[in-house]
Amino acid sequence: MDVREQLFIGGEWVAPDGKGAIEVISPHTEETIGSVPDASPADMDRAVAAARQAFDDGPWPRMMAAERAEGIKRLSAALQSRAADIADIISSENGSPKSWSLMGQVFSATMVLDTYAGLATNFQFEDHRTGALGSPVVVRRAPVGVVAGIIPWNVPLFIMALKLGPAMAAGCPIVLKPAPETPLDAYLLADAILEADLPPGVINIVAAGRETGEHLVRHPGIDKVSFTGSTAVGKHIGEICGGSLKRLTLELGGKSAAIVLDDVQLDDAMLGNLVTSGVMNNGQVCGAQSRILVSKKRYDEVVDALGSTLGALPVGDPLDEVTQIGPLVAKRQQERVFGFLEAGKAAGAKAVIGGNGMPAHLDKGWYVEPTVFRDVTNDMKIAREEIFGPVLSVIPYDDEAEAIKIANDSDYGLCGSVWTSDAEHGAAVAAQVRTGVVAINSSMILDFNAPFGGFKQSGIGRELGPEGIDAYTEYQTIILPAG
Ligand code: NAP
Ligand code: MG
Repeated sequence: MDVREQLFIGGEWVAPDGKGAIEVISPHTEETIGSVPDASPADMDRAVAAARQAFDDGPWPRMMAAERAEGIKRLSAALQSRAADIADIISSENGSPKSWSLMGQVFSATMVLDTYAGLATNFQFEDHRTGALGSPVVVRRAPVGVVAGIIPWNVPLFIMALKLGPAMAAGCPIVLKPAPETPLDAYLLADAILEADLPPGVINIVAAGRETGEHLVRHPGIDKVSFTGSTAVGKHIGEICGGSLKRLTLELGGKSAAIVLDDVQLDDAMLGNLVTSGVMNNGQVCGAQSRILVSKKRYDEVVDALGSTLGALPVGDPLDEVTQIGPLVAKRQQERVFGFLEAGKAAGAKAVIGGNGMPAHLDKGWYVEPTVFRDVTNDMKIAREEIFGPVLSVIPYDDEAEAIKIANDSDYGLCGSVWTSDAEHGAAVAAQVRTGVVAINSSMILDFNAPFGGFKQSGIGRELGPEGIDAYTEYQTIILPAG
């Protein structure tokens, strides 16, 4: 049992004001594996005050960006030295398979921090221009202020890094609110922050329930909210931020399409990547390519190959090295995905593999049998809504123009991919897809050096690349006297 009794505020461990606890339950054993304090609004006020002080009076926003970059690098190194422990804790909390979590949950996060350390060093925080009347003008990128980072449970450390990297680069203190399913890994992040020796209040970590989380979003001491999670909650947070014109970044859900073109070569590597793009992290990824669009000419062949590739992945204990598909994060998510399986069958989709619910060889844990549905049309619930589980829907198309139309017929616009023997043609198809990121012949859903984020209801704003730092700054123009 990993029982934590303190909160990380102002660079130190403090006793909570809140009396409650958040219990963390293993999705594999369904038993409690730890608990953390359930922070109260008064705790959140303390965290915002510490971040506010770090911004208004502390050294952090006033340092050279290169000095802050050194701090980011120290944090990354301190996380790297704890990588195996953090990966195991995250796998225990959310069921992410250990075979994926070391890279997907931890090193991906430290690589994001290292990327931002480099970007911070090169970012142009000041531009000197000649004004319209000939006097010199300085255009500054001032830090946006104190940030609230609201974190989901699917890739918790990685998403915290997506907020920490640009906030630290720009000079913004932050209050992180982990999800109640995954608060334990954030305690190792706090240990790493202490080791990195950052000024007090630059990063504060306060796990809390929904009301206290919303208290943070509404807090007048917060200048910007950066939220990753469901589209429904994102819209609600957007409304709250609209009321006080708080700056806002929203990374929300998706229903991304993998477009398999006629000329694709089916081999094990290609099929492995295609399946990975749909079910990585047990399908609990915002950029999951859960719609696979396949031409009628190659339909049966591709459907069968997808069934055998997904069907061969070992399902079970996330801490077992051989596991490729673990349990879903919570019973409510398992039940939700079971509901999608029923909805798919009721609408006439046929399960090539799976489709029944619980895998036959398991009797506990929040598992869902990996499923490939064929004969899916884009108007079915399974093709329209984010499932967040190991379920692939294969949709037939007549020609390329129809494939692009189906890909774009979605409320979402986050990611996508094109699979082809002609990469140049694939890129031309990609440019017609209305989503933030499209990869050719790859399961990559983002590149650390380039903007990541959604069109349509997949979000507002971008993370990563220099554009990621932009979102944590305000333009400020200083007009100097002539001469
Ligand atoms: P969620 O409700 O959107 O939660 C994400 C985060 O927001 C959690 O920390 C959550 O804490 C917090 N939150 C919720 N309501 C809030 C409010 N009013 N004010 C401040 N913070 C608030 O996600 P979920 O319920 O855990 O998952 C549901 C669905 O969301 C999934 O099935 C999936 O479709 C989608 N999802 C998407 C992503 C993504 O990366 N795009 C990630 C996770 C989930 P509480 O849990 O305490 O409310
Ligand atoms: Mg939740």
